[in-house]
Amino acid sequence: MKWTIIVLLFTVAFAQDVDDEELALAEACDEELCKLPDCRCSSTDIPGGLQPRDTPQFVTVTFDDGVNVINIETYRRILYNRLNPNGCPAGTTFYVNHEYTNYQLINELYNQGYEIALHSVSHQTPQTYWAEATYEDMQREFGDQRIQMAHFANIPIEQLKGVRIPFLQLAGNNSFQVMKDSGLTYDCSWPTISYTNPGLWPYTLDYASIQDCPIPPCPSASIPGVWVQPMVGWLDLNGVACSMVDGCFWVPDRNDEEAWYRFIITNFERHYLNNRAPFGFYVHEWYISAYPAVNSADVLDWVKNPVPLDEYKQKPCRTFVQTSCPATTCPARAEHNGVSRYTYS
Ligand SMILES: [Zn+2]
Repeated sequence: MKWTIIVLLFTVAFAQDVDDEELALAEACDEELCKLPDCRCSSTDIPGGLQPRDTPQFVTVTFDDGVNVINIETYRRILYNRLNPNGCPAGTTFYVNHEYTNYQLINELYNQGYEIALHSVSHQTPQTYWAEATYEDMQREFGDQRIQMAHFANIPIEQLKGVRIPFLQLAGNNSFQVMKDSGLTYDCSWPTISYTNPGLWPYTLDYASIQDCPIPPCPSASIPGVWVQPMVGWLDLNGVACSMVDGCFWVPDRNDEEAWYRFIITNFERHYLNNRAPFGFYVHEWYISAYPAVNSADVLDWVKNPVPLDEYKQKPCRTFVQTSCPATTCPARAEHNGVSRYTYS
């Protein structure tokens, strides 16, 4: 394989030092002032005041980390050509970090209609790096990654909307401020254990959040317009909360498909039979075939403009701009600030 080395130029337009102390604390949410589509109080209320029976039960399927020649085989096998019950292609969101990622394969996933989102450049350890990350650290990890991803994978930059911080380790206000300043729309790194039954719906950070903070520090300032997609926890077989399915400890035997089906349905029904807050899960192909799976960004589009289920099902399938990525043009040619990055792995 031919290795292409791209020199990155960091575009640090402004090296402002933003400390939490300088930011005013967010105030309690005012439902009269905070209205859709741009503002929503943190709440378990269904958007638009809809009844549960009129509310789509979204299932968000997400995969984290690098995409490479090995794991792409699994994605091709279990995801490609899947349809939701309305005949539209099923969605998936890939939270991708730079290391060990092949950008031609990211372009392939994008052209299959999946959402590409950001999971940092470095994905480095220890976890305390993320807890203590400054605004500038997060700018390098996510603000710069957005530019890099758009460039190397040849994806329109406005299609790169979401962030998941490695280890689900929040960094207080910093990552959300970087999102706002970098044109990113939503974060999907923040677990909730307290708001699982009923589940917490996505909301903005204009006002103070009611969400519990299992992995501090959580944001405290008013950061208008950025969305939180809460990771509503699952419960494992002993009732212990887990943010990701592969993070659940007490799970059925891996070969017991029937037990796994019951395990997933039990968690699913906590959403479906209640306020239908979006149900997130990590993997399992036979489940994807049965329920409507969507991109994380699709959920936000609906929350901003909540229409009843019957109307939602009539909507045309999502469309996107195809951009090819042949070997001669992708990885793209970019010069970026003294750091060498491989675009294949
Ligand atoms: Zn990760």
